[in-house]
Amino acid sequence: MPFEFEHRYAALPATFWREVSPTPVKAPRLLAWNAALAADLGLPATPPDAATVAALAGNGALPGARPIAMAYAGHQFGHFVPQLGDGRAILLGEVIDRRGARRDVQLKGPGPTPFSRNGDGRAAIGPVLREFLVSEAMHAMGVPTTRALAAVATGEHVMRDGVLPGAVLTRVAASHVRIGTFQYFAAREDVAALRALSEHVIARHYPELTGRADRHLALLEAIAERQAALVAAWMHVGFVHGVMNTDNTAVSGETLDYGPCAFLDEYHPGKTFSSIDRHGRYAFGNQAPVLRWNLARLAECLLPLIADEPADALPAATAVIDAFPARFEHHWLAGMRRKLGLVSEDTGDLALAHDFLEALQAVEADYTLAFRGLCVAAAGDEPEGLLALPKTPAMDAWRARWNTRLASDPPSPADRAAAMRAVNPAVIPRNHQVHAALQAAEQGDLAPFDALLAAVRRPCDDGDPAQPFMVPPQPAQRVLQTFC
Ligand code: AMP
Ligand code: MG
Ligand code: MG
Repeated sequence: MPFEFEHRYAALPATFWREVSPTPVKAPRLLAWNAALAADLGLPATPPDAATVAALAGNGALPGARPIAMAYAGHQFGHFVPQLGDGRAILLGEVIDRRGARRDVQLKGPGPTPFSRNGDGRAAIGPVLREFLVSEAMHAMGVPTTRALAAVATGEHVMRDGVLPGAVLTRVAASHVRIGTFQYFAAREDVAALRALSEHVIARHYPELTGRADRHLALLEAIAERQAALVAAWMHVGFVHGVMNTDNTAVSGETLDYGPCAFLDEYHPGKTFSSIDRHGRYAFGNQAPVLRWNLARLAECLLPLIADEPADALPAATAVIDAFPARFEHHWLAGMRRKLGLVSEDTGDLALAHDFLEALQAVEADYTLAFRGLCVAAAGDEPEGLLALPKTPAMDAWRARWNTRLASDPPSPADRAAAMRAVNPAVIPRNHQVHAALQAAEQGDLAPFDALLAAVRRPCDDGDPAQPFMVPPQPAQRVLQTFC
């Protein structure tokens, strides 16, 4: 299969990466192939031949690939680790997609690298297919994300809590540069490397900043902007990333690293799912403050570069971090207006949005279905069944306020309802359904995975085929904890 690899990242100094080869596996077998993404990358949409499947499991090299593991550091749950790096990922190279954008092609789970520490460099089939499913759902909902091109079973086992079948994911990303990549060089006080990295990121992701005298400060602000928009988009669809360590915050503004991620069923801002997030650092409602904290770590890394620029470095960088809450709120509110069907702006809209969520929280209403219920109400009908809104005094009072607000907003009921249905998903990858699909896949049955994948790729379609995927979990089906 003709990947036309280029190697801009590998052309950076040797301190940025280590050469490494994937470790061959016993019996590569294709589990999933993303035909639409393949077409985007200029590859044939037909499933890959046996040699390509084997290479995507680490057996033999793809022509033109130059496998490397990327160096990075990171704050894990607030604690700085000066060296993390790709411990179970190998970058093969970059391809130029049909829109002319440069995309990384990376194998996740292809065996140990110089950064593996005590890890085995491997991935189990469940997490690989979870990343496939959830990243496709995010993409379909319009949330910037890395993508999954292929999932290939290895025919080998990995040891986790128990013995699990192994797999390798082929991940496609705008790039894999993280805040932690900057931290790696900042921790080593390697200003030349920081400069090379910053220029690389500007050229690749923010070319409009090229040549500006204040470009390193502007880069901080540009990354803050894209990440603010990203995390606001997560909040709009009820996504909990689960491990917002600085090494999982991509400077491209894409969602990166689907580990113990999950979606809200009932609304609660304190919700965490990850088994390792014991203190709720990465709870649903804490994602914006944590992003700000991560951006402050990036700002620290960039200070030596900003110091050579016109602005006084420390106050200028601090101002970007101080401005973050307003920046985030701008994106959050804009998306909430769309979810509530509003096209005009009113000073009361922020409170209107918060009060709707509060009314949901009071009765633990389902986040996704409540917004979908509002789509029905906007058309002038009373939502029923799955979509019924809570019958509480708080919700009744809220609906009266909302109706008053809608009266001053231009669209017709039918147009408003249609616009709302296009931004409020009916189908999300619900945790219990993901769990069931992955369990079946571990037993060799991919049918539930394929069915769920097809459904999440059409998130706003609530026709008959979508109905089973819209149902929230029964108490016994609820997934309380997720694992990486
Ligand atoms: P994560 O929590 O997925 O962001 O990973 C944090 C760090 O642990 C990264 O440096 C990973 O490369 C590394 N890591 C995670 N799982 C493994 C594994 N099975 N083998 C080697 N390294 C791993
Ligand atoms: Mg990671
Ligand atoms: Mg991970």
